[in-house]
Amino acid sequence: MKSTMIAESITPGALKTEEEHRRDICTAGRWLRERGFVVATDGNISLRLDSRRILTSPTAVNKGTMSEEDLVVVDLEGHRLSGRRNPSSELAMHVLIYQLRPDINAVCHAHPPTATGYAAAGIPLNKALLCELVIALGSVPVARYGTPGTSELTSSLEPLVQGHDAILMANHGVVTYGSDLLTAFFRMETTEHFARVSLVTEMLGRQMLLSVGDVEKLLAARARHGIQTAGTIGPEGPVTCDGGDAERVTLTRRELETLIDEAVQKDRARG
Ligand SMILES: [Zn+2]
Repeated sequence: MKSTMIAESITPGALKTEEEHRRDICTAGRWLRERGFVVATDGNISLRLDSRRILTSPTAVNKGTMSEEDLVVVDLEGHRLSGRRNPSSELAMHVLIYQLRPDINAVCHAHPPTATGYAAAGIPLNKALLCELVIALGSVPVARYGTPGTSELTSSLEPLVQGHDAILMANHGVVTYGSDLLTAFFRMETTEHFARVSLVTEMLGRQMLLSVGDVEKLLAARARHGIQTAGTIGPEGPVTCDGGDAERVTLTRRELETLIDEAVQKDRARG
């Protein structure tokens, strides 16, 4: 296949030639744009070329039309080794993920509208609404806001990278990653799809969550699906119909008013 030919698909696996990796990144960029997950020069994609080099999309280029020559090779600290363009402005985020997760070989960052809406609302995609989502991603948390391209952003992601394969970035977008580029891309697609389904349940005004027992079975199936992150039950894991009830308290309006009155009186007494 000539390198100028447009590849229609990405094959699974991370062991490929540099030429194949370059073609895959351009294909993934086109997919992100075709699905409306990025506009203008948004988003970035990278993968591990080998143990010391990362291949990344460039900054300030449309990811749907970038060419293989636009891509940039950097080392594991993010220093440019080759390429005429500047590397992605979010390179530090990619480097952080590769450093924390030796099992990860590819990272996708985009702004898919529905999932980004959840990120902007500060609402995690953590409800056990769909069985396959629990298997694929467990739950998708929101990392607190950090200015793009700064250590603020990487430090907000840092505590979440180990336990999750997809993260909503508050007031910004989504980052997903996987053992190969196809997996990282599919996780972006799955996150956006789940966000849409979740939004529909909110519009319908009803959500029937799975139980702790259901979620335990689904999380146990992750290994069979080749997913390495364990997935957790508890505050980091999917919210179930029975698991969250222990912490939820229902009050009548009267009870709430009484509690507020008591708090105000205590405060006055102190003053
Ligand atoms: Zn972004």
